Order: sequence, then structure tokens, then C-alpha cells
Amino acid sequence: MKANASGLLRAKKHIIAVARYLHEQGYLLRTWGNVSCRIDDDTFLITPSGIRYDDLTPDMIVKVRIDDLHYKGRYAPSFERGVHAACYRARRDVNFVVLTHQVFASCVGVLGLKKIYTYVDDEDIVIPCVPYAYPGSTKLEGNVFATIKKYKDYNSFILSNHGALFVGADSDVVLDEIETTEIACDNFLVDVCKTDMYHGVEEGYGSHIKGDQIIYDIPDTPERVKHIHREIYERRPDVRYIVHNKSEAVMTVSRTATQLRPLLFDFAEIIGYDVKIPSNEHGKDGHSYHNIHKNSNAVFSLNDGAYCVGETLEDAVAASIVLDKGCIAYLAALRHGESHPLSIMDCMKMNRYYRKSYAKLASDVWD
Ligand SMILES: [Zn+2]
Repeated sequence: MKANASGLLRAKKHIIAVARYLHEQGYLLRTWGNVSCRIDDDTFLITPSGIRYDDLTPDMIVKVRIDDLHYKGRYAPSFERGVHAACYRARRDVNFVVLTHQVFASCVGVLGLKKIYTYVDDEDIVIPCVPYAYPGSTKLEGNVFATIKKYKDYNSFILSNHGALFVGADSDVVLDEIETTEIACDNFLVDVCKTDMYHGVEEGYGSHIKGDQIIYDIPDTPERVKHIHREIYERRPDVRYIVHNKSEAVMTVSRTATQLRPLLFDFAEIIGYDVKIPSNEHGKDGHSYHNIHKNSNAVFSLNDGAYCVGETLEDAVAASIVLDKGCIAYLAALRHGESHPLSIMDCMKMNRYYRKSYAKLASDVWD
């Protein structure tokens, strides 16, 4: 089977429509996650690397060869193209693939489990987990290939320490799986991990830089908070926006933990690998110490959530969302009693690579 030009254009438009829908539903954030479809035995179409879903046009959707990942043109296919190719190689019945960083499925993927046994309504659901390997590595492609092939009757998979992977005969099957899996994983977190937390940003005191002034979102921001904001702007000249996240998960971590180890890939990239939380030992009320440094985009305050920072408001909001997900994962792992954290070496590599690419292109390269 070979797709003609109008068929190709239709397929590209369909990929964009699916990606935008998932973005609106909150399953895809910024440029993270990717969508692909098979066009014939040898090739598939996939979303490009580092372009926001709102900006996508059909000419940016890239045609990639399944066997050697070869592609042509000025747009680079998603960084995770190897994972998609592995799915098409492993299973002839697969014509559509989506990789997401959706919240609850990502969180169950840090527990080090081989399968997630859960349910939706009255139906029992089993979700196999693809073992962790460094994102973009051939080892990860191999793990995906083996898992997808082994569980040939399954369409939903957890990508350990990273996100979730969905395959199917068409996009309808995949969209359905994405939704069901998120509910099923939320049920697992509540029932097994005793972690029932909404995901999002609960805004406290925010601010931004205008000229050489700090503009506070709330006029009567307390002096102790202003002090932290001033300190952040002073020590991080690259930061222009601060979003204070006081979500349930971030608040819980800010009063109980002393250190957060990255459990998820996007946490290591955006939030960093050396996140310390002030405790009462730091100064008499804990407020005099804050862990501000260039490799971390979240500054915790004792029992008061975290200040998430960025060069733009969008960056700071993204950091808040990624931090919240990381905190839910941390609490779930703690209550579950076992987890599989990322190695510090991998985290440093992810963080360094992300920063370097981000600075060079001023857009997300990892996706
Ligand atoms: Zn990813």
C-alpha cells in the first residue's frame, strides 16, 4: 500500500488535529509528547521536534522510514521517533502511536512495577510497563519493541520514569486508551498508593520583572515573600517570572520532605536534580534558607509551596505543572514504599542537554 499526495496531506492534517485535541485535554504539554501514524509498510508520519502544537502546519509533519529512521527536509522529526518506529516494527496491526507525559500514568511509572493492575468502573485493567532506559537511546527502543511485541493484545503501556505510550489500529482506539488509562492510573494512585491529589497550579504570590522593577501580582505581598523574590531575581538574572505554586502536592512536599530526587524525565530536565527543601534546621523558622541555583527552576519554601521560575510566564507555568506532577509521583512512591528513581548521572545529563538545547534554540528540543 502506498499513500498518494492527497492521502498524505489528509494524514498530516489528522495528526495535527489529534495532537491539538490532546493538547487541549491536557495530555500533551508544550511540545512534549508526540503523535504518529503509519502510511505504508516502510514509513510513518510524525510530529516534529520542538514546535508547539498551536504552530503546527502540515508541511512540518515529517515522513520517517521505519527501519532506519531516515528522513528528509528542514523539520526534524520528534526526538522520540525511535520509540514510534519500534512500535510499528513490533506490530503489523499498529497504525497509530501517541506518546504522552500525562500526569497519573507518568506517576504510576515511577514505582518500579512490571505491570499495573487496576480498574475503570467494573472493568479490570492491566497496563504493562516498558522498563526504563535513557530517553532517545537504542536501549529504550529495544525495551519498547520487546514489551509491545510481548503484550500483543494490549494498546496502553507505561513508559517507566517518563510517560505513557499508546498504540492502535487507528486514532480512535488510541484516544480511547489514553483517556481510560489516565482514569485507571488515578484509581491505582488512590487505592494502592493512597495518593488522592488533584493536579495543577494553586497560585500564591507571583511576580515578574518589568524594566528594573519587580512587579508583584498581589499588591500586599508580605515582606518575607518579597525577600525571597528579590533573592531569586538577584541570583538568577535569567529569571523574569515567578509563579508560586501552593497546590496540595507541592504544599505537602514543602512541609514534609527535605530533598526531592527526580523520578520523572521532565522533572530532571526542568526542575533539576538537586532540589532541597528548607527544614526547621535552616534558621529558626526555615525561611532564611532557600536553595536557589542555576540548575533548578523551583525554589521551595518551608510549609509554603514552591516558587517556580522562568524567563517567560509560559516557562514558569510549565515548571509549576512539571513540579506538581513530580510531587504527586514523589508522594505516591513514598506511600507505596518502593520506587525506581532516576540515577543522578542520567538526571545531570538530561538537565544539561535540555539547558544547552534550550539556550541554543530558545524552544523545547526534548519532546
Ligand atoms: Zn517524552
